Amino acid sequence: MKVVQVRCPNCSQPIYSKIKDIVFFCENCKVLHIRGGETKVIDYEIADFNKTITAEKKYMPFWRVWCNFTINESRVSGGTFRKMAQFMRGGGNSGSLFVFVPASEMDVATFKQLAMDLTMSPPRYSTRLDFGGLQRLPTKITNGEAENVSDFVFVTIQADKPGILQDLDYDLVCQEARMVYLPFVVTESGPRPAW
Ligand SMILES: [Zn+2]
Repeated sequence: MKVVQVRCPNCSQPIYSKIKDIVFFCENCKVLHIRGGETKVIDYEIADFNKTITAEKKYMPFWRVWCNFTINESRVSGGTFRKMAQFMRGGGNSGSLFVFVPASEMDVATFKQLAMDLTMSPPRYSTRLDFGGLQRLPTKITNGEAENVSDFVFVTIQADKPGILQDLDYDLVCQEARMVYLPFVVTESGPRPAW
């Protein structure tokens, strides 16, 4: 197996990685940086894991993207506005939300499920400063890609029934993504939250 060595852009300490990951965590200064196109220090949070869960836990990376939206028109019948109501400002047709975009490799169904679940009910957790010895899954998509995918997540939330053509007129403006590591227990039926 090829070992990748890069230097921390903050403190110059070498970081060794045996897995193919586009983000690197410096154990020395705790700076996380990405090498996907550009090399850039990124903001991140590590959610603390639930110590009462004894099954093996892994950290999964997500891009958390703050998005402002305005729904101009929706011809989709049933429930579409209701779903977004919790994110809307008093009575208006605009609002803001954190869109969660899974950043590691997974099948499309799991990707959609996680994106929906976390975006519709944002996780609450306390943070920690390191990974506590837990494995973390490699990041496959860049922050820039995540900002584009946010649009897809937003539309998917609106869609009551998958596959039905949406006629939705909206504006979505997303800001820079932050990386959030959430602990999960990987089960046969998919990842189970462990925070
Ligand atoms: Zn460093």
